[in-house]
Amino acid sequence: MINVTIVPVLEDNYAYLLEADNGETAIVDPGESGPVIVALGDKDLNLDYILNTHHHSDHIAGNRDLKNAYNAKLAGPAKDSHRIADLDIELDESSVFEFGGEQAQIFETPGHTTGGICIYFPISKIIFTGDTIFSLGCGRLFEGTPEQMWASFQKIMALPDDTKLYCGHEYTQGGARFCLTVEPDNPDLKARAEEVNALREEEKPTLPSTIGIEKKTNVFLRAGSADRFAEIRKLRDNF
Ligand code: ZN
Ligand code: FE
Repeated sequence: MINVTIVPVLEDNYAYLLEADNGETAIVDPGESGPVIVALGDKDLNLDYILNTHHHSDHIAGNRDLKNAYNAKLAGPAKDSHRIADLDIELDESSVFEFGGEQAQIFETPGHTTGGICIYFPISKIIFTGDTIFSLGCGRLFEGTPEQMWASFQKIMALPDDTKLYCGHEYTQGGARFCLTVEPDNPDLKARAEEVNALREEEKPTLPSTIGIEKKTNVFLRAGSADRFAEIRKLRDNF
């Protein structure tokens, strides 16, 4: 099993420190190295792997320092190998990538970027979605089409409801405000929005969420079609 520790980095990004039962460690999306080095030091850990979901600098800018400091292996999207420096392990949907004695499953999820991936550990029931799916939101369509993003969502929505979802940013409170404009009468959404407000009041993370919670509350995932998703995404861009 894999234990996950949230490491806040930059303004509102989260990196995630993974510790497996077999002693292996990894960091997901280190947007900067400093807080990750502190987190590893607090736990007296070395770093075996760096995992990147996509090429944006707020997810990879800590790669180099961490590789140098710990001699960690860098794994990330094969399709981004031209724009993520020093990739040691290229990941795509056919990859066999084992971490912590567990076979990771890679989903190629274009939309926010063309190369982005989500990284799923089926035994630990955790998924790292980067900027593809946020709690109560999704990434902007910087490089992909609504159709691509919608197809990417379907891959993730097919996972078990109790899968814990760890995304790249603490955007949940703003997401709740927007989602409520689309589905003002959704009781699950109203309850989640209250929970999120209480957590943020105490400056606590709103993550992880779960696939089940997002299915009931995330208006982007609930759009029903790529066309409707595109409309909702446009509303959000102008919100
Ligand atoms: Zn991004
Ligand atoms: Fe980001």
